[in-house]
Amino acid sequence: MPKFLFKANNDVLSHCSCENEPGSSTHQLDCPWCGCGWLISCSKCGKAFTFAVIAETDTPLIELGRREVQKRGLTNVTEAEIEQWAEAMAEDLDRFEVGQIVVYFDGSYFPIEEKNIEFDGYFASHKLDELPHARALREPEYLYAEMTKQSYWRERELPDRD
Ligand SMILES: [Zn+2]
Ligand SMILES: [Zn+2]
Repeated sequence: MPKFLFKANNDVLSHCSCENEPGSSTHQLDCPWCGCGWLISCSKCGKAFTFAVIAETDTPLIELGRREVQKRGLTNVTEAEIEQWAEAMAEDLDRFEVGQIVVYFDGSYFPIEEKNIEFDGYFASHKLDELPHARALREPEYLYAEMTKQSYWRERELPDRD
């Protein structure tokens, strides 16, 4: 069965009050600090939450993609694009174990316990001992305070971002 991301809980920061709904595809724009670069959106209500859990689903990812496109009223997305998304997502999630808690950070999903984070994301180049989301499990206000700072992102912005 395919694996996908489902909302895990309302810990740290959550605007979504649904339970166990699938996450949606990411729509990170040029404003990662707004939340689009470090939160996951709920496919049902469209609102953001922090923690997702990897679970098996009997719904093919392409079907989840179609439903999201329909729910968001997108008319310019082709079946081929949804298929591409589903394949990329399956590949992305393949390395995770069922039950693992993951977060989204600048273009990728990470297991919450990941240490020594060093990568170039969509927007910025990051080098951190732990995920900001993980630190927020001890200091809940940290995630919002740090990630909404434009300066955090601007100081690390990739020069050749496209
Ligand atoms: Zn944004
Ligand atoms: Zn929701």
